[in-house]
Amino acid sequence: MAKPKFAIYWAGSCGGCEIAFLDIREKILDVDRAVDLVFCPCVMDTKYQDVEAMSDKEIDVCLFNGVIRNEENLHIAELLRKKSKILVAYGSCASEGCIPGLANLTNKEAIFQYVYHDSPSVRNPEKIVPQTETKVKSGKLTLPAMFDYVRTLNQVVDVDYKMPGCPPVAEQIWAVIEAILSGNLPEKGSVIGINPKTVCDECPKTKEEKRVKAFIRPHMIKNIDPEKCLLEQGIICNGPATQAGCGALCPQVHLGCRGCYGPAEGISDMGGKLAGAIASIVDSDDPEEIEEIVGQIVDPVGTFYRFNLPSSILGRKI
Ligand code: SF4
Ligand code: SF4
Ligand code: SF4
Repeated sequence: MAKPKFAIYWAGSCGGCEIAFLDIREKILDVDRAVDLVFCPCVMDTKYQDVEAMSDKEIDVCLFNGVIRNEENLHIAELLRKKSKILVAYGSCASEGCIPGLANLTNKEAIFQYVYHDSPSVRNPEKIVPQTETKVKSGKLTLPAMFDYVRTLNQVVDVDYKMPGCPPVAEQIWAVIEAILSGNLPEKGSVIGINPKTVCDECPKTKEEKRVKAFIRPHMIKNIDPEKCLLEQGIICNGPATQAGCGALCPQVHLGCRGCYGPAEGISDMGGKLAGAIASIVDSDDPEEIEEIVGQIVDPVGTFYRFNLPSSILGRKI
């Protein structure tokens, strides 16, 4: 019997989601036995033309990671949608926008200005910037145009499932693969491979309903109580609003959760929810003191929307 056809693609991504796939270790051999990997630019010399030549829906499952940052990302997202029966937004970039999505705090013009002119490590006296078309002796060279802002996969094509995490943890990846191979997938549109709770629910630390007079950054901590909730010790932790599924990896090593699994079920705007959670533990009724305490949170947008700005209500800076 023919094996199901699998594809794994990276758009605007760091490649970590592909590496995470290998974290399933020897189970990768089970995957190899069970599926036919037909397209995966990270590990195989396959071309876009190979995908274009396929019949519509010929690929059974495509795991698509990365954001939609440029014309090439968009073209391949549309192509893989057409050629795949099941399209999964794999990882935080494709699902929520992730770290590349923080570029939505600025725009293409400002990014080009900094990267090609103003950055201290750049020397560009001729003010050269990448062009979408460049004439050379042998013809014309082209580069995909960058969009003004970053979009998630489901903001450009129809997506069957979302699988959050930066990157998703190995147990989650394997659970999703097993579900795919057994045909035991949930309803279309579901977030797969997660627990229907928050990181706080998976976290072994104790909460005592304590309020705080100050927020401390991790490198400033001298004495941390390993048994107690980080947030109640003044360390920002996004656990109260973050989707469970990683096993509270970061709090277990005394680092605040950064929120890479995206908003937990029922939370429409993660930053808003977190701002509310933080406000509720500030130990003061004096407006000036509250302002001073809250002012200790460096980069609130980058803290509360770190992994989900493009998919949040804010979306981007206009
Ligand atoms: S989700 Fe994280 S690990 Fe995956 S591609 Fe994006 S930045 Fe990299
Ligand atoms: S806020 Fe963070 S440290 Fe506290 S219980 Fe939740 S996940 Fe654990
Ligand atoms: S604890 Fe938070 S930041 Fe760390 S892996 Fe889990 S969801 Fe991601």
